[in-house]
Amino acid sequence: MAASGPELIDGFGRKIDYVRLSVTDRCDFRCVYCMAEDMTFLPRARVLTLEELALIGRAFTELGVRRIRLTGGEPLVRRDILSLVQQLGRLDGLHELTMTTNGSQLTRYARQIRAAGVKRLNISLDSLDPQRFAALTRRDKLDQVVAGIDAAIEAGFERIKLNAVILNGRNDDEILPLVGFARERGIDISFIEEMPLGAISSHNRSETYCSSDEVQRRIAERYSLLPSAETTGGPSRYFRMADSNSRIGFISPHSHNFCDSCNRVRVTVEGLLLLCLGRENAVDLRALLRRHPGDLERLKATICDALQHKPQRHHFALDDQPQVLRFMNMTGG
Ligand code: SAM
Ligand code: SF4
Repeated sequence: MAASGPELIDGFGRKIDYVRLSVTDRCDFRCVYCMAEDMTFLPRARVLTLEELALIGRAFTELGVRRIRLTGGEPLVRRDILSLVQQLGRLDGLHELTMTTNGSQLTRYARQIRAAGVKRLNISLDSLDPQRFAALTRRDKLDQVVAGIDAAIEAGFERIKLNAVILNGRNDDEILPLVGFARERGIDISFIEEMPLGAISSHNRSETYCSSDEVQRRIAERYSLLPSAETTGGPSRYFRMADSNSRIGFISPHSHNFCDSCNRVRVTVEGLLLLCLGRENAVDLRALLRRHPGDLERLKATICDALQHKPQRHHFALDDQPQVLRFMNMTGG
């Protein structure tokens, strides 16, 4: 039997082996559910440097984390992102480096990030209609994103998954076309319930709420969905279709609480170790790293202590009040 390595266990006995690292708060899109139209981004000094990000990745890996997902903002707009991907890609003990991207920069970067060690990619796509896409992202770039998805398929990632946030009255009529798009390309797709993060003005979240059960019901009218026990380490529940390699996932923070099996923590772009997406409990790793630059052992000890304060669960509600005032681009989705 292989010797078991170190493990990070929280106060409720959950093993934490997955970290999401937000590498920038900036983005070339302004998705209506994620950002306000006018955003003020952080000054450079408040954002973790690439060296700090790499050290945090190393600390977690040495503590037993096996999966790191890079996110943001849009990770591929961070200058020199490739050098971070390369450093993390070489970490001993890391089984999987993944990234969530809006796809806009993939024609340029897909091959390079694949070669640097990114195994799986999540690409966000909420609409196949150019005008609808432009309304949801506030940018007219559907063609660029579809070209990016095709470049990623060409680059040979182990798995590619589309992420679609479905909003009633906005894009709920695109559920089946999006499934068709994924099937044609042999890639996966997950449907996400919108989360109440950040105060937004573009829509009323309780009116646009579309449950995963409703999305599943509409897909099941066309395709028979076979429940699958597969997991990719995240919160998606997967289904397969008999006649396709594509998997369909549902991420349901409202309707199917997944806190009991939570295996992850997040590090925000400012270096806050966020113990729960839906709560404010956090520890400031940037302050520590700037007081004690390069001190890996102190960083590891702080992370271990922090894990004892990971909350048991979040309490998202549908009353349209953001439960957490951070926008998703700060947190890292
Ligand atoms: N820019 C990249 C992208 O869009 O894929 C990575 C960051 S983005 C914050 C990560 C994921 O969070 C995206 O799939 C996006 O659709 C999702 N997201 C953003 N705001 C959300 C919200 N309020 N509720 C649910 N999902 C959200
Ligand atoms: Fe940018 Fe991603 Fe947020 Fe859209 S969801 S605004 S692409 S960070």
